[in-house]
Amino acid sequence: MKITKRQLQLLKEATQLIGVSGQEKEVRNYLQKHFEEKKLPLLFDELGSIYAYKKGTDSSLKVMISGHMDEVGFITQEILSNGLIKVVPIGGVDERSMIAHRAILKNSLGKLFYGAVTANAPHLNAEAANFIKQITFDFGFRNKKEAEKANIKFGDQIILDGPFQILNKKKRLLAKAFDNRYSIALIIDLLDELENVTLPFDLYLGANVQEEVGLRGATTASNLIKPDLAIVLDCSPARDTFVSKEEEGVLGEGVLIRYLDRAMIGFPKLLKWQEEACKETKVKYQYFHSTGGTDAGAIHKSQTGVLTLTHCICARGLHSPSTIIDVDDYLAAKKVLLHLLKNLNYEKYLSLKNNI
Ligand SMILES: [Zn+2]
Repeated sequence: MKITKRQLQLLKEATQLIGVSGQEKEVRNYLQKHFEEKKLPLLFDELGSIYAYKKGTDSSLKVMISGHMDEVGFITQEILSNGLIKVVPIGGVDERSMIAHRAILKNSLGKLFYGAVTANAPHLNAEAANFIKQITFDFGFRNKKEAEKANIKFGDQIILDGPFQILNKKKRLLAKAFDNRYSIALIIDLLDELENVTLPFDLYLGANVQEEVGLRGATTASNLIKPDLAIVLDCSPARDTFVSKEEEGVLGEGVLIRYLDRAMIGFPKLLKWQEEACKETKVKYQYFHSTGGTDAGAIHKSQTGVLTLTHCICARGLHSPSTIIDVDDYLAAKKVLLHLLKNLNYEKYLSLKNNI
């Protein structure tokens, strides 16, 4: 398996979009453009999640494939008299990655401002709890008036800049926000593959808003779609900094069979289905548990319960501007997901559903 120019382009574009939780418009527009190119009907929930609808031959089964559009970041809270900006973090930002990092502010008019994270002293000795109080963002404004003139307002989103770079002869990729722009690229990539395929079920493919602040868009999107079966795409933290065979979440070791996290216990039959698909497609896979959660946590509890499977890969440096994924993991995830979809119909769904 080799990564194509198109896939690299999608991953590059998706990671460089700016969209912290609650302000995902840029990402949604990107998905919408691709969905419209494929002439698929669109659905939106009232929070801003977006789905494309691909009708199948048998509408008795509804399958939802979900990513999430948002990334962790900040919003402006206060402009100081000297032009520096105080912020509120949105989502679980890795504070260790922040000091001196380059940043981009996008104001409500869509204008970008480039700057950096500043702090008073080289050695902060910051208590984790008040770390954010000890830093400011500097976008070059010399005073409050200049910032106000540039239409910087409360709530403008700020992200840490993390350009896309290809590492080690296309084996690994470095950028901000592979969590979860991995899913945005994969959704478009998947639609490319399914362009001339008619599936024996209705497929809803898209992405939710506000995952990083508590699975909010997943709740509203699943209420909208009311799926029978959901597959959630996300990027989980690798735990392989000091390589040990006992670790779960090793870069390059394939698809994560996520059996447990804070928000959902994996459905045994679905995990087995996923594992078998990995074996049948001859790709690597690894068991994984997490103290975090994914949108699956909300979707599986919607209606009277929904069969839900996570389909994740891992990344190093999660929630920092420098996340690294393994290209083979991406390709493996895509291959297995296609295999799952191509071997799914109503009877198969019933067999996954009965006697959980
Ligand atoms: Zn995520």
